[in-house]
Amino acid sequence: MIILDGKIASQSIKEQLKTEVSAIVNTGKRPPHLAAILVGNNGASETYVASKVKNCKEIGFASTLIRFEDTVEEAKLLETIHQLNNNKTVDGILVQLPLPKHISEQKVIEAINPKKDVDGFHPVNVGKLVQGLQTFISATPYGIMLMLEHFNIETKGKHAVVIGRSNIVGRPMSILLSSNIKKGNCTVTICHSHTPNLSEICLQADIIVAALGKPEFVKANMVKQGAIVIDVGITRVADATAKKGFKLKGDVAYAEVSPKTFAITPVPGGVGLMTTAGLLKNTLQAYLNNND
Ligand code: NAD
Repeated sequence: MIILDGKIASQSIKEQLKTEVSAIVNTGKRPPHLAAILVGNNGASETYVASKVKNCKEIGFASTLIRFEDTVEEAKLLETIHQLNNNKTVDGILVQLPLPKHISEQKVIEAINPKKDVDGFHPVNVGKLVQGLQTFISATPYGIMLMLEHFNIETKGKHAVVIGRSNIVGRPMSILLSSNIKKGNCTVTICHSHTPNLSEICLQADIIVAALGKPEFVKANMVKQGAIVIDVGITRVADATAKKGFKLKGDVAYAEVSPKTFAITPVPGGVGLMTTAGLLKNTLQAYLNNND
C-alpha cells in the first residue's frame, strides 16, 4: 500500500516554486504577491489562512492578510476586492470561505477579477475548466491532480467515483478526472446526498475521491481491493484526549480501509497540504500572466 503523503509531494512542489521565485527576484523584479481576506474568527479558517501566508513566506512570495470582523458589510468587502483587483502589485486574491450569512459568497466570488482568482472559483475560470482551456483550477482538485502526478498514479481508463458535488471540490474534480489530460481519462461517476446504493457504486470504483464532509463515512466494505482512495474530508471531531480538544478526521475510515487499497491519502497530511501547493502554483501563474 502506498501512502500518498502530502508532505512529501507538497514539499517537492514548494522547492520548485522557491527556485522559480528566486530566479525572478534575482533579475530585479518583485516577487509574486498573494492577498488573503479573512472575515471573522472561525478557528479552521484562521488555521488555513495562517498556513497559506506562512507558505508564501517560505517560498519567497509576498503576502498581505486583510482581516475583517464578522459584522463587516458586504459592500465593504466588495470594495476591498475592487481595490485589490486594481492594485497592479497584487497577483492573486483569495477570500477564505465560509463567509457570514449576511454576505453573498457568490457575489464575492464574482467580484474577484478572474485573472487574480487563484482559488479558481470564479464562473469564468470554472467554465474554462469545463472546456479544457488553460485556467486557474480550483486549488483542492488541482492539488489532488498534482499529487497523482507526483506519485505517478495511473488514471487512464479507470473508473473514478467522486462523492460530493460541491463547486469547489467534487464537481471540478469530476471534470478533471474525466478530461483528456495527463492524470485524467477516467470514466467518472459523481455521487451526492441523493444517490441511492452508494456502497455498490463505490465497490465498482478503481479510484474513490471522498469529499462529503462526513467523518469516516467510507468504510472497508465500500472499497474494492486495490483501489486508490483520495480523502478530501477534514472535520474537527471533539476529542478530550487531544491537546486542542479535537482531532481532524477524514471522510474515510483510514484504519480499516487502508489495508485494502493500492494507495491512499492520510488525514491530516494528505490533500490539505496539496491544496496549498495548488494555490501557490496558481499564484505564480497569475504573476507570470500579468507580467509577460
Ligand atoms: P460541501 O458541504 O459543499 O459538499 C458536500 C457534498 O457531499 C455535497 O455535494 C453533498 O451532496 C454530498 N454529500 C453529503 N452527504 C452525502 C452522503 N451521505 N452521501 C453522498 N454524498 C453526500 O463540502 P465541500 O466544501 O465540498 O467539502 C467536503 C469536505 O472536504 C469537507 O470535510 C471539507 O472540510 C473538506 N475540504 C477539504 C479541503 C482540503 O484542502 N483538504 C478543501 C475543501 C474542502
